[in-house]
Amino acid sequence: MPAAAEQVQHFPLFIAGRPVTTESELVVRLPFDSTPVGVTYNAGEREVAAALEAAAAAAGAMRKLSAAERSALLYKAWQLLGENQAEMAQVLMSETGKPIREARGEVGRAMETLLLSAEEARRLHGEVVPIEGALAAKGRMAMTVREPLGVIAAITPFNVPLTLAMHKVAPALASGNTVVHKPASTTPLSASRLAAIFQQAGLPAGAYNVIAGPGRIVGDRLVEDRRVRMISFTGSVEVGSRIRDRAGMKRVTLELGGNAGVIVEPDGYDDSLIPRCVTAAFAHSGQVCISLQRAYLHETVYDRFVEEFTRATAKLKIGHPAAEDTDISSLITEEEARRVEQWIQEALEAGAQLLIGGRRTNATVEPTVLAEAPASVSCSCKEVFGPVVVLYRYRELQEAIERVNDSAYGLQAGIYTRDLGKAFRAARQLEVGGVLINDVPMFRVDIMPYGGAKLSGMGREGPRYAMEEMTEPKLICWKV
Ligand code: NAP
Repeated sequence: MPAAAEQVQHFPLFIAGRPVTTESELVVRLPFDSTPVGVTYNAGEREVAAALEAAAAAAGAMRKLSAAERSALLYKAWQLLGENQAEMAQVLMSETGKPIREARGEVGRAMETLLLSAEEARRLHGEVVPIEGALAAKGRMAMTVREPLGVIAAITPFNVPLTLAMHKVAPALASGNTVVHKPASTTPLSASRLAAIFQQAGLPAGAYNVIAGPGRIVGDRLVEDRRVRMISFTGSVEVGSRIRDRAGMKRVTLELGGNAGVIVEPDGYDDSLIPRCVTAAFAHSGQVCISLQRAYLHETVYDRFVEEFTRATAKLKIGHPAAEDTDISSLITEEEARRVEQWIQEALEAGAQLLIGGRRTNATVEPTVLAEAPASVSCSCKEVFGPVVVLYRYRELQEAIERVNDSAYGLQAGIYTRDLGKAFRAARQLEVGGVLINDVPMFRVDIMPYGGAKLSGMGREGPRYAMEEMTEPKLICWKV
């Protein structure tokens, strides 16, 4: 990694199909050791206005493209991203600080999301409405067509910057919309590269614009602009609620946080359980919205789980994210790591047992396993967004379901059992957007509908589902 900010690569904003720089440089640093890794630019009022103007002006060109043409464009972008995957993984590793193996995995997911969107572009359809079912409609026929909304503001968080951007940008373009994208200020570099790829693929100028800059300024401005028809937001509950309050008549989808739980029944223990739970708790240092944070273990498997889980956790290797064998690198900032450290301390003072981990060095927190923390401590009831998992013992399945549900959030939950009756009873009772049977709540593939209940959000992503949110069914009715 280069040592000085002036030596690192520059990543322009993208407005109206052109790279744009401003006088306000935004230096991005590797979270693990603060090395400068790239420079982009804060958009000012002028750039935000230009991006909105460009997106509004390009809406007509996007609308005119046929489904086959939009699909071909996305497919071309998929090919180009494939050719650039190694570089994109480096960019992602550098801006997020996630281990390089995970960064490569993220590029793979972004590519799959793009390919699925290219395929869905051809399938977007309305329906024939059986209108003569209404007494007053005798002699009429009706159908719906799905029309693009127009300009969509995409606002994305720091933790999975490329894939989460792709979940907004690709379905938006696949369904004929245009996009103004504001990436997180800590991880704005991959979006610049993505815009360049779409440009190279032949996207109409202005159909995808990238503007970095502080959320409170750039984000607020996007939320307020009357040309924006929809805000597609992924991030914290705090910012999501603010957006919802200010969005007025705009359509809003919110993919927010969680404190996901898993239940392990006596018959649920299998060879994959421990490795899956370790990955679910500690991948990207727990900075995943469906990271495993609370594990409810039946009393008959509790001791075995504690022993095997802490032993597997102890083997995780902490190190520089560029090293191939690193499992745990750092959190996004030292400030975040300090917050997680404080929350661990709070849990210990409230009577939790520390089974392993608990220490912090700069922005890195050791993978930490706590037992029996009171449900009221932050590590249990709030979203940790760090490498911390709390283990609990239970007797009856019903009690475990109620304890998972005893949360303001509801993104996903998992249950391990071979008993289908129990599994489906839990699946119906768990108050979440998705239930995983015999898997951890962190399971997500990009084809599935994904989103939350309660404070975890509203609306669904996954290309097909996002495209439904990003289009309007228009009724066409004729008298025969
Ligand atoms: P965040 O602080 O809410 O920021 C998310 C985005 O919102 C950033 O681009 C941020 O810009 C922007 N923003 C900040 N203030 C804004 C405002 N007033 N108006 C409009 N935009 C504004 O979230 P984060 O810390 O980046 O990400 C972590 C959170 O995301 C966690 O809660 C996690 O659970 C959630 N998440 C959810 C999902 C899901 O699919 N459900 C997936 C991943 C992450 P700045 O960076 O410039 O502040």
